[in-house]
Amino acid sequence: MPPGGKKRMPVLFVGHGSPMNAIEKNAYSRAWEEMGGRLPRPEAILCVSAHWESNGTSVTAMVSPRTIHDFYGFPRELFAVKYDAPGSPSLAKRIAGLCRSTSVGFDESWGLDHGTWSVLSRMYPAADIPVVQLSLDRAKPPAAHYALGKELGPLRDEGILILGSGNIVHNLARMDWEGGAFDWAAEFDDGIAGMIIRQDHQGILALLDRREEVRLAIPTAEHFLPLLYCLAVQEKDDKLSFFNEDVVLRSISMRSIHIHSSQD
Ligand code: ZN
Repeated sequence: MPPGGKKRMPVLFVGHGSPMNAIEKNAYSRAWEEMGGRLPRPEAILCVSAHWESNGTSVTAMVSPRTIHDFYGFPRELFAVKYDAPGSPSLAKRIAGLCRSTSVGFDESWGLDHGTWSVLSRMYPAADIPVVQLSLDRAKPPAAHYALGKELGPLRDEGILILGSGNIVHNLARMDWEGGAFDWAAEFDDGIAGMIIRQDHQGILALLDRREEVRLAIPTAEHFLPLLYCLAVQEKDDKLSFFNEDVVLRSISMRSIHIHSSQD
C-alpha cells in the first residue's frame, strides 16, 4: 500500500479500432463495459489517445472538455454521441508537475477525441468521472514517450486510471473485409504480446527503431505509442492479462491489456 493509503490503480491499454465500437454492441464494446464494472472506480482518468498528436506535449486543462468527432463518413448516430465527462484542471497541474523530461502545456482547445470517448462511453456511460488527455508530441522518438510515461507512475497511487487508447497493429491502407489476419499482422501482434509478457520493454523500443521491419504493422507510430505509456507505468510485480485478442479487417489488432496490482 502506498503512503497515501490508496491502492495502486490498474492500467489499461485498449485497442479501440473503429469509432463504431462506441455505439455497436459487439464483443469488443462488451468487454469495455465489463472492464468498467470490474475496475476499482477511479477518481479521475488520464487518457493517452492515438488521435491527439501535437507539437510539444500538452494536457487538457479545461473544466468541461468538448466531444470531438474526429472522423468522416460515419452514420449521424455516431456524430450525435456526446460524452460530457468533466475535465480536471487540478489533475492537469499535477501531470505537468510530475513531468521532468519535457514541459507540458495546458490546453484549452482540444477536448475528448474518439480514441477516448468511444471507449469511455462504454466503460463509464454516466460520464461522471473527470477525464484529461495527454497529447503525443509528434517529434519525440518512442524512447522519449516511454520515459515520459515513467514519470506518470505516481498517479497510480493517487486513484488515477491511466488509459492508453490505440492499436498495436494499425494499417488502414491494408484493411479488407474479406479474409483473416494478414500473416505479418498476426506475427507482429504475437511478437509484441510475447515481449509484453516478458516485460521486455527495451526490446519493444529497439524494434520500433527498426522502421523498415515494422513498416507494415505500424506505418505511422501514433496508434502504437499509447501502449508505451501503459508499459512505462507497469511495476515489476504487477499482473497482466490480455483481452479482445483479435486482428480485425486483416490489419487492425484489437489486443487490449489489463495491468493490475498483484493484490487485486
Ligand atoms: Zn484510432
